Amino acid sequence: MHTLYQKYIFTPGPVKMYKETLELGAMQTPYFRNEEFSQVVLDCETNLLQIANAPKNSRVLFLTASGTAGMEATVQNLLSLKDTALIINGGGFGQRFVDICNIHGITNINCKVKDTNLSDTSLLNDSKDASSLIVNAHETSIGVLYNLESLGNFAKENNMLFIVDAISMFITDALDMSRDNIDALIISSHKGLALPPALSMIILSPKAIAKINPKHQLYFDFNSYLKDGLRGQTPFTPAVSVILQLQKRLEQIIKNTPQKEIQKAKEIAHYFREAIKPLPLKPYTHFMPNALTTLTPTDNKSALEIVKALEEKYNVVVAPNGGELKDTIFRVSHMGDMTKEYTDILIDALFDYYGSKNRKICRDKCRSS
Ligand SMILES: *Cc1c(COP(=O)(O)O)cnc(C)c1O
Repeated sequence: MHTLYQKYIFTPGPVKMYKETLELGAMQTPYFRNEEFSQVVLDCETNLLQIANAPKNSRVLFLTASGTAGMEATVQNLLSLKDTALIINGGGFGQRFVDICNIHGITNINCKVKDTNLSDTSLLNDSKDASSLIVNAHETSIGVLYNLESLGNFAKENNMLFIVDAISMFITDALDMSRDNIDALIISSHKGLALPPALSMIILSPKAIAKINPKHQLYFDFNSYLKDGLRGQTPFTPAVSVILQLQKRLEQIIKNTPQKEIQKAKEIAHYFREAIKPLPLKPYTHFMPNALTTLTPTDNKSALEIVKALEEKYNVVVAPNGGELKDTIFRVSHMGDMTKEYTDILIDALFDYYGSKNRKICRDKCRSS
């Protein structure tokens, strides 16, 4: 077995997968241009619309691509040269939307934000004339969760198309397309849905569907996905096996209820954050999602060195940060099939790394709480 498989992963994608979906991944990929597979796709669409509480007559597009392609395809299909996009830019993924708009010639307002979750939207008041509002619901590069309800109200009051990249918070943190006035919701297979990378799904409200541009590209033309999707098909070969895994996973979520999935992520995040309190690490922000914990060393250690030591000494993989925050923060994902037992592997590694003896006491205390 490759040594890659022997590591414990706490990364924000890919994430630890469930046994049921792992088993499906070992199966032969079947042929897909038939009734039976169409029914699988239609099932996935129905369940995704329900989980996201999408407005009536919304649709789901299934793209075979990573999340960034979902972001780019959404901008290309929904915005035109007449639009102005107001982009919330709190880090690497916000910047990516700015880059996408610039490449495609979409006029944009690059709204750099820091230390806010935008519960108060007054700092956006100068940009009320924009025709669309774009945000990464969870800015994964630093672990900040924005307030979708207040952003959605702002978008509605100012008649903006609201585009939300929910890739790294879908099913670990609460979201409601109807309540939050979301017109386009971008999600991917390899974050909270805990499937292999391969799929990006875009959920479009009727308002977004009405705004799709006439065709100016082949592979990511939303109109052709909508048309073929009516009968449960895609214009090109989809990630057949991952769609079958998605069907299983969505059934699991509906059966367990989305609320319980979110609650589980919340409990694991809380368990981890409580357990490491004796260590010289502090939360980087007040606005952390359930999906991720972002930590800053308080003892002048380099965050990147901690990340490297965890992998070399304990086979535990957490996410470093690139760029100017590389020594300041590292990130721990709580997405996917996480349990307290699995999280203990990381907690134990951190206590051992710091040579701290407090772990035993802490472990008993945290477990009982
Ligand atoms: C992971 C992620 C993406 C997608 O990245 P890909 O590498 O293209 O899959 C997009 N947005 C956010 C907020 C993410 O966390």
